[in-house]
Amino acid sequence: MKAIRIGQGVDVHQLVDGRDFWLGGILVPHAKGALGHSDADVLLHAICDALLGAAGLQDIGYHFPDTDQNWKGADSKELLKKVVQLLKKQDWQIGNVDASLLLEKPKIAPYIPQMRQTIAGILGISPNAVSIKASTNEKMGYVGRQEGVLAFAVALLFQ
Ligand SMILES: [Zn+2]
Repeated sequence: MKAIRIGQGVDVHQLVDGRDFWLGGILVPHAKGALGHSDADVLLHAICDALLGAAGLQDIGYHFPDTDQNWKGADSKELLKKVVQLLKKQDWQIGNVDASLLLEKPKIAPYIPQMRQTIAGILGISPNAVSIKASTNEKMGYVGRQEGVLAFAVALLFQ
């Protein structure tokens, strides 16, 4: 093994009425959805940034600027696929990804297996190497008031 690198990513989006709630690459039934230029998938964005960070390839805003009409309403799975291509170009392989979600509602546990499957498929690794955890913010702050959703991720790359 030539090198091992770790990266971290954080993302936050507002939750508003009248938007689909895309999370971890799947559509989660909920009264509110995340607001953003793309489909606003906070979990995939945090994972993109963790992967880019580990490779020293700047961040998601650099590669997919929200001023670019190409990415308006974009499926974040496509953004993640592009990040994986960038890593491949530099011979990086993905070891694992560990992510945490902070949101008050809805309960995410039933959707986690499908999210792991979806993300692992894009990353080309086993679902066992994609961890997703979810927690509430104990009714405090903007997450607690259901005004926003927050995601954190770390990723390990190797060559
Ligand atoms: Zn985002």
